[in-house]
Amino acid sequence: MKQYDYLVVGSGLYGAVFAREAKRAGKKVLVIDRRPNIAGNIFTEEIEEINVHKYGAHIFHTNNKKVWNYITQFAEFNRFTNSPVANYKGELYSLPFNMYTFNKMWGVVTPKEAKEKIEEQKKAAGILEPKNLEEQAISLVGTDIYEKLIKGYTEKQWGRPCDQLPAFIIKRLPVRLTFDNNYFNALYQGIPMGGYTKMIEHMLDGIEVQTGVDYLEKKDELDKMADKVIYTGAIDEYFNYKLGELEYRSVRFETEVLDEPNFQGNAAVNYTDAETPWTRIIEHKWFEFGTQPKTVISREYSSEWKLGDEPYYPVNDEKNGKLYEKYKELAQKEKNIIFGGRLGEYKYYDMDAVIASALEMSKNEL
Ligand code: UDP
Repeated sequence: MKQYDYLVVGSGLYGAVFAREAKRAGKKVLVIDRRPNIAGNIFTEEIEEINVHKYGAHIFHTNNKKVWNYITQFAEFNRFTNSPVANYKGELYSLPFNMYTFNKMWGVVTPKEAKEKIEEQKKAAGILEPKNLEEQAISLVGTDIYEKLIKGYTEKQWGRPCDQLPAFIIKRLPVRLTFDNNYFNALYQGIPMGGYTKMIEHMLDGIEVQTGVDYLEKKDELDKMADKVIYTGAIDEYFNYKLGELEYRSVRFETEVLDEPNFQGNAAVNYTDAETPWTRIIEHKWFEFGTQPKTVISREYSSEWKLGDEPYYPVNDEKNGKLYEKYKELAQKEKNIIFGGRLGEYKYYDMDAVIASALEMSKNEL
């Protein structure tokens, strides 16, 4: 008899959802994480009474009512609406691309004028069927916005020229002919009050958790403890990169406490020129309408992942897609293990999609 029904490797959102569901189904679960803390990349830590998003800004948004009803069992969400500002060499623009952006860029006043301007630039560029991010971006918003607000940011973020990136990445951003600065087209949006770590704590309530335990280091020993493993780490790392490394982008944060209440007046300011070395600055208190006397900011620097770094963003292009498929075949041949989440499935998942996927898997599994 094994001690546990399930060993969940990784205490991020995917692992936490599965652990909760397994517990609800009466299973015995052990959750392990190699970091000293739970919550994976949605980990928040309190500094100067401000919940700091230690692994990058996470703004919960979804159109999926089932997911919203599920996650709000574990935290109350505030009314935060993401509306980042773009800073291009000191010029400020509204995001996502909307009438405020078009007015500032071209002086156009009506939606009709904005539409004509975009059409004119699109036509001049001669793009019929966009094949990559650059062409997709120009077809959506024209060359001026592409040059000032997309090209520099995207090339810093992904470390690749825009004409070598998949078009879908830019389709994440809405383009609107209205004065609406809400970054997301989502019915439900907000930040869990008290931070994401607390929310994950609630999800893992009553479940055994061990931090500082590296699954891949003690795999044989740990596998003996449970009937089945839910693995949320990187799929290529699991196989010791034997088919080659999948590419990821990593992120480094320079976090500072400032002795002033308001540094930039917004949670996120994107630096969209090519020269500024960081991609964006996050001022964490604005996620929760903070009134603290101090403020905490994080400059975000993007870099190519190399062995030993934290992987953040899978680079979902064709080449990596093919390699992932090969790893997936290997994964399907493994016994008593399920791979899931952003790293386990090598997929640029948003949080709500991670929850939906973990719930679906739980339903089938349990
Ligand atoms: N993007 C951009 N300019 C911006 C913000 C985003 O060109 O000011 C592009 C960029 O290619 C980025 C993509 O839109 O990778 C998706 O941005 P999002 O904010 O959704 O990325 P995340 O928050 O997941 O890093």
